[in-house]
Amino acid sequence: MALRLFNTLSRSVQAFVPLDPAGQKVGMYCCGPTVYDFAHIGNWRTFIFGDLVRRYLEFKGYKVHHVMNITDIDDKIIKRVHETRTSLREFTAQFEAAFFDDLKTLNCLMPHQTPRATEHLADIVALIEKLMARGLAYKAADGSVYFSIEKYRTGGCQYGQLVKLNFDQMRVGERVRSDEYEKEALADFALWKARVPEDGQVFWPSPWGEGRPGWHIECSAMSMKLLGPSFDLHLGGEDLMFPHHEDEIAQSEGAGVQPQGQRFVKCWLHGAHLLVEGKKMSKSLGNFFTLRDLLAKGFSGREIRYLLLTAHYRETFNFTLEGLQAARAALMRLDECLGKLRALAGNAGAKENSTLVGQFSDMLDEDLNISGGWGAIFEWVRDTNRRLAENSLDAAAAAAALATWEKLDTVLGVGAAPEFNVPAEINSLLEARQAARKARDFRRADALRDELKAKGWIIEDTPKGARVKRET
Ligand code: AMP
Ligand code: ZN
Repeated sequence: MALRLFNTLSRSVQAFVPLDPAGQKVGMYCCGPTVYDFAHIGNWRTFIFGDLVRRYLEFKGYKVHHVMNITDIDDKIIKRVHETRTSLREFTAQFEAAFFDDLKTLNCLMPHQTPRATEHLADIVALIEKLMARGLAYKAADGSVYFSIEKYRTGGCQYGQLVKLNFDQMRVGERVRSDEYEKEALADFALWKARVPEDGQVFWPSPWGEGRPGWHIECSAMSMKLLGPSFDLHLGGEDLMFPHHEDEIAQSEGAGVQPQGQRFVKCWLHGAHLLVEGKKMSKSLGNFFTLRDLLAKGFSGREIRYLLLTAHYRETFNFTLEGLQAARAALMRLDECLGKLRALAGNAGAKENSTLVGQFSDMLDEDLNISGGWGAIFEWVRDTNRRLAENSLDAAAAAAALATWEKLDTVLGVGAAPEFNVPAEINSLLEARQAARKARDFRRADALRDELKAKGWIIEDTPKGARVKRET
């Protein structure tokens, strides 16, 4: 079956057809983190959604070029740089590094490119110059450069492709300098912001004087530079539809760089937001969690990833700590089944079972129906457990079941249970304990067992020999 996705541009589910005439290559841009703080669990929902899209496209055989920018120039960052009296790079580097660490903890694939706005000033300035040359941008009395929505519209272009806008609210010549504003504040937006004292040392030269770029133009410039003026997929959370993505379209299409008849982006995907305990996350409500807060509570990246992957991306997701407990229990069920299959399969190799893979991909083809995909997996777990209990599976069948799971896991990225990723140090302690037992040195064997236990690992003696399991 062919993949179908909900395109915000058409507000409908459409067949996904790449721009590449060979139908192979896919260009995908995800708006990345603003590195002014640690990413929170809502941000992670959106980034894991991007990871799912990438992994599923690869599962379908597409060759994905995945770009995720690092927003390292922005109003919020400059405010914090000012408050903390650090340099821009020093300030953003710590949160950028934390972001990449968290990305690994959650087993997200590293994007192929992660451009920083600070490395693309020349591209940003060149794009603004194009808009100036086409009469779509103007320098205002405050020294900043703005995008003229009126000129864009009278030139025959549509502003308001992703969201419906009420132009009666708009007063010609009204401007908005901040990067984030509501639809009701519809106005010409800033492409280049003239330097003000609060910017401190955060400024660059430009043909319009010293200053810095607006947030929206950063993404237009970096995405087109790395993926070309017209590419397949652009992703972000639903809050980015307006003004960020709407402004990206206006700037990128306004520059007139796309081939005849093509748009800046063919398909826009937006993930719904995450709430915590039914409410918008906020520090004052005490329901604000970074990934690190949850790790400190004893949850693993794997459990958090699993939970965030259980709901459809266009549904608002209510995150709770009970939900995380339930995720832990669901993974334990899966792990138990996989553990039994591993013990039975031994070293037997096999090909995957195409029925389950087919059921799973039929679900995901339909606008990434992940809950349907999990439904098929847990049905299979139940069936496998039944067959294990009746002893009706042989080593080859168990190996085929494992190969099937591994294939599906290329999309899910939930991976093996931690006990199957046994650190080398733990393995050598286990081997030493086995050697001690063989030599009938039970004192030493017991001491090694205690040492393993102190490190959080328990020994299980199975018919196939001893193995270690993480203590739960
Ligand atoms: P930011 O670092 O604020 O630019 O946000 C990074 C990404 O996280 C963007 O795609 C946002 O749309 C997304 N995002 C922000 N808050 C939430 C939330 N509560 N739930 C889901 N995604 C969010
Ligand atoms: Zn962006």
